[in-house]
Amino acid sequence: MYSDMHVHSSASCDSDASIWDICETAIERGIEAVALTEHVELHPNDLCYGKFNYDAARRTFEKAKEKYDGRLILLFGAEVTYRSEIESLIGRFLESHRFDVVIGSVHDAPPINFWDPANSALVRSNPALAKGALKVYYREVKSMAATGLFNIVGHLGVYQRYMPNVWPDVVGDDELSDILHEALEEVCANSRLELNSNVMDRPGHLPSPSVEVLKIYREMGGKPPTFGSDAHSAEAVGKNYSSAEKVLKAAGFSGFASWKDVARVSY
Ligand SMILES: [Zn+2]
Ligand SMILES: [Zn+2]
Repeated sequence: MYSDMHVHSSASCDSDASIWDICETAIERGIEAVALTEHVELHPNDLCYGKFNYDAARRTFEKAKEKYDGRLILLFGAEVTYRSEIESLIGRFLESHRFDVVIGSVHDAPPINFWDPANSALVRSNPALAKGALKVYYREVKSMAATGLFNIVGHLGVYQRYMPNVWPDVVGDDELSDILHEALEEVCANSRLELNSNVMDRPGHLPSPSVEVLKIYREMGGKPPTFGSDAHSAEAVGKNYSSAEKVLKAAGFSGFASWKDVARVSY
């Protein structure tokens, strides 16, 4: 039995997955708990800006929670896109909206849009530009974790998701490695990492974070990571769990965090 702590239902602007299909699939697969971590984006440049309807999502969630009571643990969550420039806005939003679990994610590394694989050539051919983008990325992760607003730091290293094997080696570069360590220090103190398995079944794709980064995090005293499929369809709930577990163990952890270690509610 395990918990999938990162799933998007149709309450997220980029998912069509019905909460009912998600629950049925999770039960079929023997999953103990599912956190519905819907996209909350509070900056106009973000894809799901203004599209999350808290009350509607909450109503549907409560119906599902009642229907599956005793068969599946459901958590009402959010994946908040963090940007330091709107940190106080995010803080106010989280103060006024109740969630069982909150993931904080950095989805940006200016000036490089890492969601468009067409930028791979640019990253490969301009290491200085890529390094600059990674500095921005890891500094944002550091600020995000330092806020203490987030139970989980989502998919660290996600810039590799659609652009694997083109970025500078963060651990091997002194300057980047220092920033990574500073970010992990804040994660260890105020949050925990997720091991995001989203693209692990694609040849050549790494988990986020990599084994190497997970090892450093563990050595720094980091708490066991959560497992997150980052599913945007019912079919993807719990996806790649066993390969993620292998990565976790290779990094020296004995197991994933349970939902109980992370959630702000008891059942
Ligand atoms: Zn999404
Ligand atoms: Zn994300």
